[in-house]
Amino acid sequence: MRIGAGYDIHRLVEGRPFPLGGVTLEYPRGPLGHSDGDALAHAVIDALLGAAALGDIGHHFPPGDPAWRDVAGLDLLRRAVALLHQAGYDVHNVDTTVLLEEPRLGPYVEPIRANLAKALGIQVSQVSVKAKTNEGMDAVGMKLAVAAHAVVLLQERTG
Ligand code: MG
Repeated sequence: MRIGAGYDIHRLVEGRPFPLGGVTLEYPRGPLGHSDGDALAHAVIDALLGAAALGDIGHHFPPGDPAWRDVAGLDLLRRAVALLHQAGYDVHNVDTTVLLEEPRLGPYVEPIRANLAKALGIQVSQVSVKAKTNEGMDAVGMKLAVAAHAVVLLQERTG
């Protein structure tokens, strides 16, 4: 078994869609980023890569590389899972926390869990998505940013 932790934060700006865990949130602003800015997918990727000691998201998908411009977070996640499989690991489970002041994530949690589970090749019961606001404090609380934390457990690949 190997454990990994990941974190990501993106600034929220006008005129951008708001992808989170592969779901597009209904909101007038969205994350700024070279890729699509899916902070949750990016945090999970860093947790996966960290658990396998395979570097970080910026090493595998450099933000200056035109190949990754506007690329979907779930697409990068699938690529990261392929790297893990090559390295001899499967994902055992994932626990995540999204920090976002608005919109409320309740209605989006189940679709996000389903998306992450599919990309990770595991069951929905192995994927946890929790949401918190930042109580009006700091960049997240002032609705200027979305952040996400992820913890994953890997096991040696059996199949
Ligand atoms: Mg990111």
